Amino acid sequence: MTKFEALGLQQSLLDAVADMGFETPSEVQEKAIPLLLEDEIDLVALAQTGTGKTAAFGFPLIQKIDTASRTTQGLILSPTRELCLQITNELKSYSKYEKSVNVVAIYGGASITEQARQIKRGAQIVVATPGRMKDMIGRGLVNISKIDYCILDEADEMLNMGFYEDIKDILSNTPSEKSTWLFSATMPKEVSVIAKKFMHSPQEITVGTKNSGASTVQHEYYVVGGRDRYPALKRLADAHPDIFSVVFCRTKRDTQKVAENLIEDGYNAGALHGDLSQNQRDLVMSSFRKKQIQMLVATDVAARGIDVDDITHVINYQLPDEIETYTHRSGRTGRAGKSGISMVIVTRSELRKIKAIERKINQEFLTKKIPSGAEICEIQLYHLASKIKNTPVDSEVEEYLPAIYDVLQGVDRDELIKKMVSVEFGRFSSYYSKSKDLNTSGANDSRSDGRGRDSYNSNGAVRYFINVGEKDGYDWMSLKDFIRDTAGLGRDDLFKVDVKDSFSFFNTEADVTDRILETFTDFKVKGRFVNVEVSKSPGGGQRGGKNKGRRRDKGFQGKKRGDRKEKRGNAVHSGKRRSTRRSDFF
Ligand code: ADP
Ligand code: MG
Repeated sequence: MTKFEALGLQQSLLDAVADMGFETPSEVQEKAIPLLLEDEIDLVALAQTGTGKTAAFGFPLIQKIDTASRTTQGLILSPTRELCLQITNELKSYSKYEKSVNVVAIYGGASITEQARQIKRGAQIVVATPGRMKDMIGRGLVNISKIDYCILDEADEMLNMGFYEDIKDILSNTPSEKSTWLFSATMPKEVSVIAKKFMHSPQEITVGTKNSGASTVQHEYYVVGGRDRYPALKRLADAHPDIFSVVFCRTKRDTQKVAENLIEDGYNAGALHGDLSQNQRDLVMSSFRKKQIQMLVATDVAARGIDVDDITHVINYQLPDEIETYTHRSGRTGRAGKSGISMVIVTRSELRKIKAIERKINQEFLTKKIPSGAEICEIQLYHLASKIKNTPVDSEVEEYLPAIYDVLQGVDRDELIKKMVSVEFGRFSSYYSKSKDLNTSGANDSRSDGRGRDSYNSNGAVRYFINVGEKDGYDWMSLKDFIRDTAGLGRDDLFKVDVKDSFSFFNTEADVTDRILETFTDFKVKGRFVNVEVSKSPGGGQRGGKNKGRRRDKGFQGKKRGDRKEKRGNAVHSGKRRSTRRSDFF
């Protein structure tokens, strides 16, 4: 008897297992499959990514459904289109010897009519993303009122993406006497809320690292090239739009630099280190507590007293010298019964340190991949959509609505949604569209050719730094006017004007660069030099020659292009940007 046979799987599935080359069940499969086959139970299964969860619910599901009936009996909800397709394909391979099993994937971005047609042909199992599922229920294109099994896959990720309301709505369309199986890598508060609310005394299984000790912290490491630490950090942040984190650096200098770069790139970040005055530190901490700062970049010494409870992530930008210090860092998250994640950005040569830490904390690290541009775009898009959805309507907009309706007349709902999302998302997605794979192991990935590393400026735009900002009484409009009038430019020649506290950024097309730089050579306003420099230019270096001998604002010294290659072409967070001002302490 093979190990899979021992789990109680029927022959057709065992044949598929053999074809797929699975020899030994994974831990979550070994625990979940017999449980699910034997009884009608609710189940909460906690297991990391890559532990074979799909088969853990897929095999029992296929074995339990009535293949003679064409009624939809099983619903699997999963966070993204990719996962949805992946699960569907897996289930199709599992059921290859059960010809009458029909698995249909439902997800956004593809023809809803075609998906409805497939459902109509009879799908015993539907694999869906919550958004499209809700849509199809609303239009009466799918019927889940008779399902026996509902599976929430990657529940933590779905909730992270803001699908709580959708899931709730979808579940309200399912019968109460069904079995619910929830699979998740972590167990944040939101997941336990779902479990409590929608499940009946679920049995629980936990596999892997969670078993060792009572730790609520998951440890992950990401292997990148030494020069990709910063872009990697940004991607980790972008992939977690609601991140509330402490980012640890080894030195005060790095701490300051990383915080500055993050702020400049549009993140709600702040620095905490010993070179700041007590007053400055108090201000940073108070902004952090109020969550106006989402990424607190800190040295170990300065972070020692941080007693904030709901930190979601600790990010080790660099590993500490002492293993002991790592324990202190990761202990900043996973507090007060919440779960947390400690991420480590490492280079190949540091991997042995990971081993040493594993021994020390008696817990294994997960190897994770820095998310790709496409993955980030998808997450951000969902996040944006759910943010729009959850934004309460401001009664003060009423009086402007007639005019707005006028402008948008003739644009139908679908079109409007597309446009609305594109407004915020376009820049972000074009920024990441040609981004490379940052994972060192992914060297043969087709995207890792280094092409389009920085597409922010890809359409010929040049980014400038100017040493005036809000302190000098400018907002983006008045600064735009000032630069445009001074340099004698046209109405639309300036864009992406981003005013910070004591400095700003703006863009123009490359053909007016010389004009801008000439205009602002030895240019004074009220006795003060107004200094413009090319922040970065597509393919070219800094035009340092034009600016020789000029003073730069303190805090920007030593910041060369290489330090911030990846520009955040993202306006998704722009609504929050104003609050970054509070953390401009340099
Ligand atoms: P998870 O959902 O936990 O992230 P998946 O179900 O996607 O993990 O499985 C990860 C990979 O492992 C898939 O390629 C899957 O085909 C493979 N896999 C699953 N179970 C086994 C097994 N028992 N033996 C070998 N490979 C397996
Ligand atoms: Mg999975």
